[in-house]
Amino acid sequence: MYDYLVVGAGLFGAVFAHEAKKNGKSVLVIDKRPNIAGNIYTEKVEGINFHKYGAHIFHTNDTGVWNYITQFATFNRFTNSPVANYKGELYSMPFNMYTFNKMWGVVTPEEAAEKIEEQKSKITGEPKNLEEQAISLVGRDIYEKLVKGYTEKQWGRDCKELPAFIIKRLPVRLTFDNNYFNALYQGIPVGGYTKMVENMLDGIEVRLNVDFLKEREKYEALADRIIYTGAIDAYFDYALGNLEYRSVRFENEILDIPNFQGNAAVNYTDRETPWTRIIEHKWFEFGKDEAGNDLPKTVISKEYSSEWKPGDEPYYPVNDEKNNKLYQEYKKMSEKEEKVIFGGRLGEYKYYDMDVTIRSALNLAESLLK
Ligand code: FAD
Repeated sequence: MYDYLVVGAGLFGAVFAHEAKKNGKSVLVIDKRPNIAGNIYTEKVEGINFHKYGAHIFHTNDTGVWNYITQFATFNRFTNSPVANYKGELYSMPFNMYTFNKMWGVVTPEEAAEKIEEQKSKITGEPKNLEEQAISLVGRDIYEKLVKGYTEKQWGRDCKELPAFIIKRLPVRLTFDNNYFNALYQGIPVGGYTKMVENMLDGIEVRLNVDFLKEREKYEALADRIIYTGAIDAYFDYALGNLEYRSVRFENEILDIPNFQGNAAVNYTDRETPWTRIIEHKWFEFGKDEAGNDLPKTVISKEYSSEWKPGDEPYYPVNDEKNNKLYQEYKKMSEKEEKVIFGGRLGEYKYYDMDVTIRSALNLAESLLK
């Protein structure tokens, strides 16, 4: 008999399992996938750490979380500075002085601010749709070239038909700062995320290719308590219906060239290009292997926005009113499960960045183990 069964070897499960073991508890971790690390899983392709379930950049302002996670990996100095490609014109992101200089030839922050103000003022009164909202925040030129097409691809609808509230803020920087995240700490674990999770699970029994929901009775009988990080609606066999997700489809290619786009992320902001962005994985680690050698090939992932249907990989929860209400119903049901605690992005139906996932798992560990 184990003290804890952890369902899911993703980040939440790994943090909790590590803490449980550290506190002298016996732990068994299971995952239905053939690998650990959940959605932050990376695998080596042509010597490159390939982010299979989408590009992951660690960033946080939480010093406690940073001190915690750096026990398991050394982080490199990667800084996220995406580039936007609008019909072959390249712009620096997020919107900053480099962007404004390229867009209008302006040189000083004052000139840039003037240009933006002049364009913003064309929208008077309450914005009626997302298009008007975006123009009222950044002006028409930035909207047309850098917001419109990307947003329309993401939502599969025209910006004029989308509600204004979807975009609340579009930050504008009147400085030459193109560091996307406003985070105190940022980087990519050297050697990949899978290695980092492996270090967290060191000395802990892990069984892969085990679907808890298919062998529920057997595994329930194995432990006093269960930490379940799978989907909450699946746990209850979708008794109240499906929670919805937004999905992403990846098209991956290995190219026999050393450098495809010179940056980890390039967003395609026109409507015509079918993908929303291309990730070139090697640039998360500066194009080098762990010994510092240049890598001869490259791996890219084209990302497409796609409709989610039950059975697809759940990526982003749709936290709208309908789904949040349904989640609350499932949550009530989950509170009656005395032996089981629900956690992580699927168990709590929340978009959690990695740092928030770690904080949330540490909080749970603190409340249960100390
Ligand atoms: P998961 O990683 O999903 O782990 C849950 C695990 O449970 C999975 O391994 C699954 O196989 C397993 N499981 C589910 N059901 C069962 C079952 N019935 N039986 C057995 N096992 C089961 N965060 C950032 O900070 N920076 C980023 O750049 C970033 N990029 C992201 C990009 C994308 C496309 C997405 C979707 C998320 C991104 N995130 C990012 C968020 C990050 O992925 C999450 O914070 C993190 O993966 C959450 O970990 P988790 O353990 O809760 O969930």
